[in-house]
Amino acid sequence: MGRFDGRVAVITGAARGIGFGTAERFAQEGAAVAIIDLDEAAATEAASRLEGSVPGAKAIGVGADVANADSVDAAIARVVSDLGGIHILVNNAGITRDNLLFKMTELDWDLVMGVHLKGAFLMTKAAQKHFVEQKYGKIVNISSISALGNRGQANYSAAKMGVQGFTRTLGIELGPFGINANAVAPGFIATEMTDATAARLKLDVEEFRRLSAEQNPVRRVGFPADIAAAVTFLASDEASYITGQTLYVDGGVTLG
Ligand code: NAP
Repeated sequence: MGRFDGRVAVITGAARGIGFGTAERFAQEGAAVAIIDLDEAAATEAASRLEGSVPGAKAIGVGADVANADSVDAAIARVVSDLGGIHILVNNAGITRDNLLFKMTELDWDLVMGVHLKGAFLMTKAAQKHFVEQKYGKIVNISSISALGNRGQANYSAAKMGVQGFTRTLGIELGPFGINANAVAPGFIATEMTDATAARLKLDVEEFRRLSAEQNPVRRVGFPADIAAAVTFLASDEASYITGQTLYVDGGVTLG
């Protein structure tokens, strides 16, 4: 018996990184999984990789841009028709366009807001129709420690704090319909996103990870599995009395 037997979980930006790790964990615990990502081929490849690594797993890959309403509606319709429903939504897709404020362009701002905030809004709006009808649904949004402020990330930190406000409001509006909405705010997680930051800072990836590990009390970087563990807990029925919350999964780096 898995915690998610008979459930369908949709994870955005899941072709790699935190999203893929989370999709794997849902599949290991019995969910059928829809991997949504910008690139259809990458999403499909990730779905077959997941079916290869988790015995008995059912996964589909769907190409969609979470920042585009038509694309989102088509993706949710395909999930429901191919997997028979939708019970869990993880809004994980993300991008960075870092720069100091005076160098940040309007496009840098709009792109980041589009994927993180509008993307979470559109996906949630499309999914909640099904959640409300069936009086059951779990939403987990991925925020970040950058929500608390981070040099060079005015766009990203505003979006990630926005995700927390969005999550609290979902908790209030959707709770009466059997729907829980929570957020996870990761610290440094070793993925292609942080590898790209290392490259931008002209640092070796391992050196960048070592320096990041030194900055938190548990003295290691995080991995996608650390976030997957928190996301699956919040999406499980064990967490049905928790809603509107943001759980920081960051090795204690925000403790001060
Ligand atoms: P990642 O490795 O860069 O993966 C992000 C995925 O999202 C990519 O596959 C990307 O596809 C996809 N994506 C981007 N824009 C999209 C769109 N418009 N529609 C659908 N998919 C889209 O990132 P990650 O490190 O796993 O991060 C996952 C989430 O955690 C993000 O929300 C990020 O902000 C958050 N986070 C990460 C860290 C960290 O340290 N890694 C810390 C805090 C929070 P393409 O490759 O095609 O662009």
